[in-house]
Amino acid sequence: MFKRILIANRGEIAVRIIRACRDLGVQPVAVFSQADRTARHVREADLAVPIGPAPAAQSYLNSAAIIEACRGAKAEAIHPGYGFLAENPAFARAVKQAGLVFIGPSAEAIEQMGDKVRARGLMAAAGVPVVPGSPATLDDSRQALALAREVGFPVMLKAAAGGGGKGMRLIEQEAELEAAVRAVASEARSAFGDGRFYLEKYLDCPRHIEVQVLADAAGRTVHLFERECSIQRRHQKVVEETPSPFVTPAMRREMGEIAVRAARAVNYLGAGTIEFLVDARRNFYFLEMNTRIQVEHPVTEMVTGVDLVKAQIEIAAGGKLPAEAEHPVLNGWALECRIYAEDPAQGFTPAPGAIEVFRPPEGPGVRHDSGVYPGAEVPVYYDPIISKLITWGNSRAEAIGRMRRALGEFTIAGRLATNLDFHRWLMDHPRFIAGDFDTRFIAQEFKPAALARAAGGGDDEPRAAALVAAALAWQEAAAARQPATRAGGAGLSPWKMAARTRLLRR
Ligand code: ADP
Repeated sequence: MFKRILIANRGEIAVRIIRACRDLGVQPVAVFSQADRTARHVREADLAVPIGPAPAAQSYLNSAAIIEACRGAKAEAIHPGYGFLAENPAFARAVKQAGLVFIGPSAEAIEQMGDKVRARGLMAAAGVPVVPGSPATLDDSRQALALAREVGFPVMLKAAAGGGGKGMRLIEQEAELEAAVRAVASEARSAFGDGRFYLEKYLDCPRHIEVQVLADAAGRTVHLFERECSIQRRHQKVVEETPSPFVTPAMRREMGEIAVRAARAVNYLGAGTIEFLVDARRNFYFLEMNTRIQVEHPVTEMVTGVDLVKAQIEIAAGGKLPAEAEHPVLNGWALECRIYAEDPAQGFTPAPGAIEVFRPPEGPGVRHDSGVYPGAEVPVYYDPIISKLITWGNSRAEAIGRMRRALGEFTIAGRLATNLDFHRWLMDHPRFIAGDFDTRFIAQEFKPAALARAAGGGDDEPRAAALVAAALAWQEAAAARQPATRAGGAGLSPWKMAARTRLLRR
């Protein structure tokens, strides 16, 4: 096993990896940008190395600085987390060339799966069903039109180098195509430095269901069942669960086998995810492979008992699959709500800022993976994720009930907005409770006015009282930290604080 691991990431995933290091007796080394000097992952690591200014391009995406930090800290391996450099083949290669271990698959596997068009071709050749569409990137709107007519409208136009829900357009009819081609190509050039695009059929009532895979160097590749990720805004996930209420046992077996086949086709090593789109008739098609740990990995951990991050590290150190992964058993049901600093009433736009009161829930069946603490700042520079709230139950109904209870206990207040009320609304929605949804659910069902009701409607007195109590506690703590200098100006009265609209929105 490694003695020291450098974590090339920040926020909740860096804290999650620090925990896996502790469980393995490995010393975690953090890196941080100027904006993260006092961040939680910096406080919790054994050692923290500054790697540059706040913008990600100059810090968390600065491969040279990160490799240098790793050498300086005498760490033997780098865990990339998700996002940033996690799926960058040049980084994986550079780490290896520096004589260090990249905790993840080979640079070749990342490269093969990183180009979405190439991955589609590779998967089709391996006998994996892919979404009907382009066999190669398209040159212009004329070619796009011919292909769209062939597969039939509606279609999805996508950037080959796309990710994070960017560089994607739904096109309902011919007249929209030309403008969409121009928009996707230019968005892709500015966001990914690569303007190539392709086209897929837009599936009917699409569900996003993905399969977790895990492979060791001895050639054992297994799947750890599926995750249902259809609750999305702007083509990005906000709530995930496992198992999927839509997947039958036969389909689970078949999807699992195909996911293993897909991973084997690129000699995959470590933890990865095969994403599928599923139509109303339960046909499933390969969408893409994520060659890293996923944000939503905890739900799989809750129902299988496999510690995926620990397994990633053990496999990178030459170890085998853990015994519990070799013959995995699906036990109960798990849900995850991603808690973001964003404003659901304003189209889910990011709304980062200072967290003043932070009281996460506790109790039976609750797991909370966070990257913050009371008094921390959610910086404007990065993805505004605050934490992930995960609940487990013997049944889906029990997991939902516990999520409802946990969301009820959760208090976040400060100079930011959160999506807690959105999650409260969702957990009470009859269609969500019935498992009757696809990726269009939020667009179809969510109206900002619903938030007032989710926040308690006319019955918000107990919540307001709790908020004032929390604000008082926060002010006392702040006064104790800075007795003389700050007591006047910056020490807002709790009443004033409670009157702030964002604070009341919790
Ligand atoms: P990204 O890599 O940017 O996350 P994906 O290709 O994984 O992009 O797609 C993200 C989401 O967009 C999917 O989960 C799904 O909701 C929607 N989507 C993508 N392709 C299609 C399609 N062909 N038909 C219907 N929905 C799609």
